[in-house]
Amino acid sequence: MTSPAKDATASNPMAPNPMDLLAQIDLQALGKLSGRVDLPALLNAASRMSDGQLKQLTRMLAGDGGKKAALPTADGDFYGLMETLSDDEREVAAQTKEFMHTHVAPIMNEYWSRDEFPKHLIPELRKLDLLRKIWNEDGTRKPNATIIEGLVTLEACKVDVSTAVFFGVHAGLAFASIALGGSAEQKAEWLPKMMDFEAIGAFGLTEPEGGSQVSQGMRTTCKRDGDGWILNGEKKWIGNSTFSDLTVIWARDVDTQEVRGFIVRAGTPGYAVKKIEGKIALRIVENGHITLGNCRIEERDRLQAVQGWRTTADVLKLTRAGVAWQGVGCAMGAYELALTYSQTRKQFGKRIGEFQLIQNHLVHMLGNVTSMFTLCLRLSYMADRGEMNDEHAALAKVFTAARCRETVAFARETFGGNGILLEHGVAKHFADTEAIYSYEGTNEINTLVVGRAITGLSAFV
Ligand SMILES: Cc1cc2nc3c(=O)[nH]c(=O)nc-3n(C[C@H](O)[C@H](O)[C@H](O)COP(=O)(O)OP(=O)(O)OC[C@H]3O[C@@H](n4cnc5c(N)ncnc54)[C@H](O)[C@@H]3O)c2cc1C
Repeated sequence: MTSPAKDATASNPMAPNPMDLLAQIDLQALGKLSGRVDLPALLNAASRMSDGQLKQLTRMLAGDGGKKAALPTADGDFYGLMETLSDDEREVAAQTKEFMHTHVAPIMNEYWSRDEFPKHLIPELRKLDLLRKIWNEDGTRKPNATIIEGLVTLEACKVDVSTAVFFGVHAGLAFASIALGGSAEQKAEWLPKMMDFEAIGAFGLTEPEGGSQVSQGMRTTCKRDGDGWILNGEKKWIGNSTFSDLTVIWARDVDTQEVRGFIVRAGTPGYAVKKIEGKIALRIVENGHITLGNCRIEERDRLQAVQGWRTTADVLKLTRAGVAWQGVGCAMGAYELALTYSQTRKQFGKRIGEFQLIQNHLVHMLGNVTSMFTLCLRLSYMADRGEMNDEHAALAKVFTAARCRETVAFARETFGGNGILLEHGVAKHFADTEAIYSYEGTNEINTLVVGRAITGLSAFV
């Protein structure tokens, strides 16, 4: 699996441009040096170095022959897990990282303050063609789909969790509902358009009175009416729904009590969406409160292959691994911000990173991040090999959400008062973690799923 980095800038878009570096070379000094070392052989060896070896070399050179060494760059991948990935996987991570730094980082605080999703970024995101690296057009998954999804989520969340949530709702929840529950015709109609972001998807399951218990207490109903269906009810918290082209709505059949899924097109009479205002987390994600009042849906838009709640649960199992990765990315981003801050912020005449108590925070954070990253990588390998059960995904969600909450709290604390200011970055991670903690199964519900699996005894009431 391990392969050397062929192009250091491709695997690390934040690395300096090699041409800029070459332009800075002192040719006279280089002439003297070439008499003492075999420069072509040296450059050839450097070009074949892995990311880890390059980092080691950078540290060595920064040692500067006895002068004070440059401080290490913050890097949450302490065990070099990225180096265990294939070139393709690392390339997706690098592309996502570059997209986040180029397009999202400069505007995210403004959009977070405005409580709005930057829709003008969708054409830029389309250029990465990420969905085709995860899904095939017929709705089957690529062999390493969960790893790829995880890496996209990781790199996005290091900068901004909301961007990952937009992607996860569209490319995960909504896409997977059609991929797992749609007929061949429905997949052919929607999946290519969704891959190109020409049709944006949302996923409507949660209800005002039915969060954790929605599988048993779903109040939204569907009733057969000639060649169509009549939907009535409400859905709460539905990400992307304020501007989505289609929203998958889950409803209980009043005649059979079976759960059914429907593709509800924007603008359908009887379907209304109101943006939820006043969130303290994930403010860049637009969540909607949906009302369905005698909303008529044609039979062709009922998801034809849905087998009751089992299909909904299969979609959630798939996407729960993605939410576990959100915790890793959010925590890693916060850790790297805190470490960098600790290397520059001075109090009592010292950088705060020189204080033992601050180092304790940083090491605690790094331990969390490293264990979360390792766990999610293993979970994704299991998912891609068809070995992941509900309880595996649930344990990853419980563990990463809790460790993320602890990590962002230490990170925020490391910034002192600046930790609550948007401009320092860590405050957004701190706030967004609260949403990660509660959706895709709360801590308690995922704990009960794991508890039932390991004891063989259900503690659900
Ligand atoms: C930002 C955000 C985005 C979201 N996006 C979407 C989306 O796109 N689509 C969608 O369908 N939903 C979405 N959700 C909804 C999310 O999945 C629910 O919030 C979640 O399932 C919890 O439901 P609830 O909020 O109603 O909490 P409740 O179910 O009311 O839970 C309240 C508390 O009671 C606890 N509890 C409940 N039952 C038990 C039990 N049996 N034993 C022990 N404790 C229990 C819970 O763990 C929790 O602590 C989103 C939520 C948020 C916050």
